[in-house]
Amino acid sequence: MARKKIVAGNWKMNMTPSQAVALCEELKDLVKSEDVDVVYCVPAIDIVPVVEAVKGTNVEVGAENMYFEDKGAYTGEISASMLVDAGVKYVIIGHSERRDYFKEDDCLLNKKVKKAFEAGLTPILCCGETLEQREMGITLDWIRMQIKSDLVGVTAEQAASMVIAYEPIWAIGTGKTATTEQAQEVCKAVRDCIAEIYDAATAEAVRIQYGGSVNAANAAELFAQPDIDGGLVGGASLKADFGKIVNYK
Ligand code: PEP
Repeated sequence: MARKKIVAGNWKMNMTPSQAVALCEELKDLVKSEDVDVVYCVPAIDIVPVVEAVKGTNVEVGAENMYFEDKGAYTGEISASMLVDAGVKYVIIGHSERRDYFKEDDCLLNKKVKKAFEAGLTPILCCGETLEQREMGITLDWIRMQIKSDLVGVTAEQAASMVIAYEPIWAIGTGKTATTEQAQEVCKAVRDCIAEIYDAATAEAVRIQYGGSVNAANAAELFAQPDIDGGLVGGASLKADFGKIVNYK
């Protein structure tokens, strides 16, 4: 069965609650699609108003982060069950900005991925290499290490339902997109890694996005690649261009 494409916006630390609601209104008609799943991953404070603003549309809401504990003395954190109760369906885990600025390592991310599944959320697990790693020729080894460590204890059924975003760090927010060949090569390597950990059917089912300066001009070529099932979009998700990315065909 063909995998349905999924295009998710990562709003990062942008949009106050009222700006968020206005953006949902602006994008409402532009992101309509029957062929593509559309997700807005929004800052925690925007979740409640955005869930309300997209009611009755084809858009699902995602969080940009969560903590792995159920509840308690973890000041500033948000649990998976809080997200579910607020109407969130997806959660980005392991974005390179969280790995880098907030020192989130694969052991922590593995706990988050497992908790997300336990709560009924779909993780969008990010992986990606630095420019230095690419130049050293260790991109595929690095990605495989991230995927394997982050998925310890995750079942085949869970893995089949998740989303993995390959995001070369050097392409995020820089305007430098990976070439179609580079993006396809790594997304295929991610799928091969899933086949190795689980089986061919799980690898066929898992959806793999490319992320890194996706825009209205390059989305069609990227998304046409056999192992690229959509995109995780930062900057361009905050403007009308996002509609063109969703409707890339
Ligand atoms: C991202 O934040 O995941 C991302 C890919 O950002 P951008 O599209 O701006 O490069």
